[in-house]
Amino acid sequence: MANNNSFQEVLDRLEDVNKYLKLPPAIYNRLRCPRRSLIVTLPVRMDNGEVKYFEGYRVHYNTARGPAKGGIRYHPNVTLNEIITLAALMTWKCAVVDLPFGGAKGGVACDTTKMSRDELKRMTRRYTHEIAMLIGPESDIPAPDMYTDEQVMAWIMDTYSMIKGYSVPGVVTGKPVCIGGSLGRKTATSQGLVTVLLEGIKHLGLSQKELTVSIIGFGNVGAAAADILSEKGMKIVGLADSKAAIYNSKGIDIKAVKKHKAEKKSLSNFRDTEQVSIDELVGLKCDILIPAAVEGQINSKNANNVKARIIAEGANDPTTREADKILNDKGVLVLPDILANAGGVVVSYFEWVQDIQRYFWHEDEIQKRLEGIMTKAFKHVLTIAQDKKVDMRIAAMILGVGRVAEASAVRGLYP
Ligand code: NAD
Repeated sequence: MANNNSFQEVLDRLEDVNKYLKLPPAIYNRLRCPRRSLIVTLPVRMDNGEVKYFEGYRVHYNTARGPAKGGIRYHPNVTLNEIITLAALMTWKCAVVDLPFGGAKGGVACDTTKMSRDELKRMTRRYTHEIAMLIGPESDIPAPDMYTDEQVMAWIMDTYSMIKGYSVPGVVTGKPVCIGGSLGRKTATSQGLVTVLLEGIKHLGLSQKELTVSIIGFGNVGAAAADILSEKGMKIVGLADSKAAIYNSKGIDIKAVKKHKAEKKSLSNFRDTEQVSIDELVGLKCDILIPAAVEGQINSKNANNVKARIIAEGANDPTTREADKILNDKGVLVLPDILANAGGVVVSYFEWVQDIQRYFWHEDEIQKRLEGIMTKAFKHVLTIAQDKKVDMRIAAMILGVGRVAEASAVRGLYP
């Protein structure tokens, strides 16, 4: 999970990128602070009659480019520091893919694996009520993140609509299609990741066939990425979830492992695989490594052992700044989170547009537009990386932070 001060890394990386952007101090200093952070306490009646208190957050990092956009995470280790970090990354990410959004993030410190569906529903409704002063289709549009899903988004949409007295589908994205969700949203993050990864493969002159892949995290992002890549003929050799990491250099049968995970709720003891630790998995042979779980899993302790040619960041903030330096020295191509996993927010943007217009698009149109935006962003970031002789993360930040800075400057200081 995030270290206690992951936001310090955001600030350090901003300093790194400002060597190229050379922003005026007033703008640079503004980009170093979140705009607003709301902390809420959620009293929730549990099934046994007891009232438990959960702490939740919603942070707007910067809204110079438009309404705040960002997911909601339910995880026991959620802290305000982590949510501010993720809200900052959302701000740069929306700008990298040129969406008219600012960046936000929300979260509740809770363990969903120990809660009933009714408890989860009551907590979600109370959380929505407490952050209702911030969210809305014109101000702040949440979406799913770790341990939240379509159902949680449906409860948020319903609660917000009850407060308003009429249906407001545009208040969240990633909701079920039957209440205004978008086709293609569920797999959008992985689709976008694969588009960027294929561009990376092309750039390195590798042949797509026969490439081997390890994926850390087997949820919305990781499992869908495994599906798409194995359909493209790549071999998934390593997988991890919160309970186990497994490896087989000859390849893992994705259909069978999904069935195993659905039945046993874990990857552990899947047939014909070696059980390893996450750190070991990071160092085992593969061509492509996809972190798709929590922060900081590629760090100074294991980066030296990485064998992959490409790291495609499905997760947010999976690679520490120290690890970045080691990976760069080794010549590993790191496709950074704010570019590589932006497909989710791109299709969230499409969902929001469809909700506001009350007019829904065909899936092929959504896929085509998603691919177009991701490819364009990759090429733009690569050009910056080549021109300025920097890595892809710094290049993506030059693009994203630069656009946010430009919007902040042109809007000016209020009052
Ligand atoms: P999810 O809840 O659907 O799945 C999370 C997966 O990670 C599960 O398989 C879980 O077992 C595993 N996991 C949890 N802790 C772990 C640990 N310590 N080590 C290894 N595996 C662990 O979440 P998701 O939506 O797939 O999100 C995964 C990552 O992708 C997060 O960093 C999230 O912020 C990022 N992301 C998600 C989206 C999206 O659209 N859902 C978009 C952009 C980025």
